[in-house]
Amino acid sequence: AKNNGRNRYSYFTASMQAHAQNRMRLSNDLHLALPGQQFELYYQPIVELATGQVHKAEALLRWQHPTRGMIPPDNFIPLAEETGLIVDIGNWVFYEAARQVKRLQSLHHASFQISINKSPVQFHNETHGHEAWISFLLMNDLPRQSIVVEITEGLLMHTDESISAQLLGFRDAGVQVALDDFGTGYSSLSYLKKFDIDYLKIDRIFVRNLSRNSSDMALCEAIVMMAHKLDIKVIAEGIETEEQRELLQQIGCDFGQGYLFSPPLPAPAFEAYLRP
Ligand code: C2E
Ligand code: CA
Ligand code: CA
Ligand code: CA
Repeated sequence: AKNNGRNRYSYFTASMQAHAQNRMRLSNDLHLALPGQQFELYYQPIVELATGQVHKAEALLRWQHPTRGMIPPDNFIPLAEETGLIVDIGNWVFYEAARQVKRLQSLHHASFQISINKSPVQFHNETHGHEAWISFLLMNDLPRQSIVVEITEGLLMHTDESISAQLLGFRDAGVQVALDDFGTGYSSLSYLKKFDIDYLKIDRIFVRNLSRNSSDMALCEAIVMMAHKLDIKVIAEGIETEEQRELLQQIGCDFGQGYLFSPPLPAPAFEAYLRP
């Protein structure tokens, strides 16, 4: 038994060591990803439910690792946040999305919008980052509403002077803000009002089991009603079935996003998707 225990112990440390080594390697590789041009933005359509029109998309980051293939964001964003690399990566995401939105505005629709995800770490580590983005939009004759910044409830919960200033900076410049993953955190209604949030994204956990008399249905309905009272548009995430789409449209949800319409696509495929 003693021997067995020691084996288990050494197995445990060995696997911990492997895990740490793996992280270390991934972290080294992550440093090379930007200079190596290994990042790509995919675009997922955001559909206006009442009309089916697509004048918006969310940009989602993909890392094409030279040997490991495509690494999904959930596997490297946390590491990018811990290492601070998220600031440079996040700026790359902004400039790439801005370049693409300009293209889509001339190819497809003049008021096309792209939303990008901005990590709380970006807000904390680069407190004047929003100013560079705003002047970039100005200098390139891009309408301010070209880019929507998606933030999480956590950012609003742990807000301080600097975060408030940045959010109000976006608002005063006319850059819209969306609250991502709504319902999974604890954001209070007063924040939605205080920061003049433009969009609220209902997290896909509430969409997954949507059916006519479900409690999730009541919840989504209440969120939509409340948001509309505050003059906030609602985007439902993770729509995978026609039934979900129909129910959300019935309760007045403004926009939808999900595999039913399209998965996130590389820019050329997304442009093809938009073509009639
Ligand atoms: P998110 O912002 O909540 O993005 C939506 C996620 O849901 C995306 O995963 C998308 O591919 C996925 N999704 C879309 N439709 C469906 C559906 O119908 N069913 C299901 N099951 N999933 C769907 P993805 O692309 O893997 O991104 C995961 C998360 O990584 C994002 O969640 C976001 O938090 C983060 N992320 C992605 N790109 C960036 C970025 O550029 N910067 C930062 N800071 N975070 C990013
Ligand atoms: Ca998002
Ligand atoms: Ca989300
Ligand atoms: Ca998320």
